Amino acid sequence: MVEGTVDVAVIGAGLVGSAVALGLARLGQRVVLLDEGDDRWHASGGNFGLVWVQGKGAKSGAYAAWTRASAEAWPAFAAELEDAVGLDPAYAKTGGLSLCLDETELEARATLIKRMHNQPAPGANDAEMLDAIELHRLVPGLGPRVVGASFCPHDGHADPLRTLRALQAAFVQAGGSIRRGVRIESIDAAGGGFRLAGQVSVIEAGRVVLAAGLGNRHLAPMVGLAAPVRPQRGQILVTHRVPELCPYACHRFRQTADGTVMLGDTHEEVGLDTGTTQRAAHDLAAYAAACFPALGNARVIRQWAALRVLSPDGLPIYAQSTTHPGAFVVTCHSGVTLAAIHAGELAGAIAAGNLPPAVASFAPGRFSEAA
Ligand SMILES: Cc1cc2nc3c(=O)[nH]c(=O)nc-3n(C[C@H](O)[C@H](O)[C@H](O)COP(=O)(O)OP(=O)(O)OC[C@H]3O[C@@H](n4cnc5c(N)ncnc54)[C@H](O)[C@@H]3O)c2cc1C
Repeated sequence: MVEGTVDVAVIGAGLVGSAVALGLARLGQRVVLLDEGDDRWHASGGNFGLVWVQGKGAKSGAYAAWTRASAEAWPAFAAELEDAVGLDPAYAKTGGLSLCLDETELEARATLIKRMHNQPAPGANDAEMLDAIELHRLVPGLGPRVVGASFCPHDGHADPLRTLRALQAAFVQAGGSIRRGVRIESIDAAGGGFRLAGQVSVIEAGRVVLAAGLGNRHLAPMVGLAAPVRPQRGQILVTHRVPELCPYACHRFRQTADGTVMLGDTHEEVGLDTGTTQRAAHDLAAYAAACFPALGNARVIRQWAALRVLSPDGLPIYAQSTTHPGAFVVTCHSGVTLAAIHAGELAGAIAAGNLPPAVASFAPGRFSEAA
């Protein structure tokens, strides 16, 4: 039995699917957002919350430009979400620091920032290096081991859980519907559109957007696409509330508006394992205390792990199927940063039926060409 017919079915109600679905619904499309509802290892519930520009796209000017454009769109995007549904994503454009603890790290960072200055992409050029004297003047609470940093004025942070709630509330307000507990197991071309089936439900849709994170690997081949994504575990610690330590978001340190400090995050190739380890807790705490000695006495109140959704080159995958026109795949490992552009330009392009030239280099064909 067919349960419903819509213009677009978006599979995956994480940050990526929810942002795209919101953008589509605001354009007047009838959209259903489908999610299996198993949140054991999903990235959207366990990430760090940075809206981060610096260092992104060192090898891809297109990615640097796309990231910067999303960061530029974030202030209006956050304000609009709050106006629409009364949920504040707690976005702050603080500027961001990537701290260096020794000369080798500082030199490597300076080389990266210099390489990005040579890129044509706007914004790739705005990060600058700060030496120890400038940096310690800017952030007096830093420890003596911090020898410098890169700084980018476009970086900031948001509360990822509030952002997700706001995206979904705004989506429903715009006329979209969310179906949880629906795991899509097959997608077939039917009647000029698609027939999506799970264990107990069948949905017909004119278009389908695969935004299922790690689940895209399995779903993409059903519509002639590829999403060779893999999980990468990231562990995060959270401290109790402490007085303000640093007004800037940092690459591995983020103080929330209520004073808790998030310390992150590991990069571990352990498959679908979301366990936490004492080793990671020790390393993250030791790093944080080296950067901010005041944190040496802070109490850790939480530790968790979540899985990044990583493509082989770390860049997003955006494509429309050539064998199944109307089927799109959307996946990335910076779903907070890119939420604004996913809900805006990307959703508009999907509604129009053509992805923009700006994302042409993110098609999965690049992986088979590389092979
Ligand atoms: C530790 C860590 C730190 C991070 N830090 C940052 C950061 O600071 N800034 C940033 O921008 N990004 C960060 N990220 C990345 C960001 O969290 C992800 O890019 C983003 O959450 C990916 O969202 P998603 O919707 O693609 O995937 P997910 O959150 O995994 O959601 C996918 C959804 O699809 C559903 N699904 C899967 N298969 C099916 C199916 N067959 N049928 C129905 N539903 C299905 C799942 O239930 C899930 O809800 C971080 C990630 C991690 C793990």
